[in-house]
Amino acid sequence: MNELKASETRAIRGQMEQTQYREHSTPLFLTSSFTFPSAEAMADTFAGSGEGIIYSRYNNPSVDELVAKACALEGMPAGFATSSGMGAVFASLAALVRQGDHIVATRAVFGSTHQILTEILPRWGVSFTYVEPDRPDEWDAAVRPETKLFVTETPSNPGLRLVDLERAGRFCRSHGLLFIVDNCFATPHLQRPAEYGADLITHSATKWMDGQGRVLGGLLLGTEEVMDQVIFFCRHTGPAMSPFNAWVISKSLETLHVRMDAHCRSALLMAEWLREQPGIAAVHYPFLEDHPQYELARKQMRAGGGIVTFELAGGVAAAQRLLNNAVLCTRSSNLGDTRTILTHPATTTHSKLSPEERAAVGITDGLVRMSVGLEAPADIMADLARGL
Ligand SMILES: *Cc1c(COP(=O)(O)O)cnc(C)c1O
Repeated sequence: MNELKASETRAIRGQMEQTQYREHSTPLFLTSSFTFPSAEAMADTFAGSGEGIIYSRYNNPSVDELVAKACALEGMPAGFATSSGMGAVFASLAALVRQGDHIVATRAVFGSTHQILTEILPRWGVSFTYVEPDRPDEWDAAVRPETKLFVTETPSNPGLRLVDLERAGRFCRSHGLLFIVDNCFATPHLQRPAEYGADLITHSATKWMDGQGRVLGGLLLGTEEVMDQVIFFCRHTGPAMSPFNAWVISKSLETLHVRMDAHCRSALLMAEWLREQPGIAAVHYPFLEDHPQYELARKQMRAGGGIVTFELAGGVAAAQRLLNNAVLCTRSSNLGDTRTILTHPATTTHSKLSPEERAAVGITDGLVRMSVGLEAPADIMADLARGL
């Protein structure tokens, strides 16, 4: 498959080999374990030298197909699929740190990633320091002799702040840090951190990769050296993805490029339209020319992504009125679906943060996050107009 150049082609044609039935669409391998033709063949496989698959916590054909396609899309040689995006994020950290290590992370990482850094890893003697995503000049000051990892996410959720991946790559190389990127918001169709030297990429495949709000899934994609450690950790701690979910997501990757182009086209239209509407104090979208990191967005992203955020001048009341008046758009905390989703972070996903903590990551009382779906843009606009 690697001789196929275009990633779109790889995502469609990177299928596993046909079985004896010569099926066109890959079958689902819903089996926990695999068998061997002889005791010797079984011994060889366990010793690592023979053909064959042992057990679905390690490998499964449906999961392997998804991992191979995702590796091709991200330009990484090795991967592992997990039961959720957080399974992937946790494994990316826990597999690579030991007691006494320190992590530098950009502020405004995903909420559960923040919980892992602040509540879970410190129990095992692993500390962290937050740096500002858009102020790379200040990152050097956060590095200590025991710093092991740089963890980042771009664009951030829900602030849509970007991290300069080229700068981040140079920063990691100059300090000998492993460079880990959560590429969930952009997907490999819009942005490829491997081109900037990332060692490990994590995904919540639950979002744009499935793209239809059906299953949970996570992916870990990285260099051989890093994935050796990550795969060892995952095989023995058990966060493996269900073959069924892998089969669903693998099919979804065949249309990722078409869906993402349409989500991005619609999101840009929405952002431009929202700016003209009454009661809107600000609209944030990386491909709007007044986004403070517009030049960087154009440099490292193919398009602006499917998330638009906007601030209502009327605060909480105005935001809740917008959500309550929507009949087409859905009130949900998910994102990356064919259906447009509205979330009010201050009272839901980020309600546990103090007002000061929310302010530090740009979450005002009137901020609404919109995951732009694939409905006709005119219908989404009419729905929003009802509540504005
Ligand atoms: C949703 C999300 C996750 C967590 O993924 P789950 O599949 O919900 O576990 C991690 N990072 C980002 C950026 C996300 O949006």
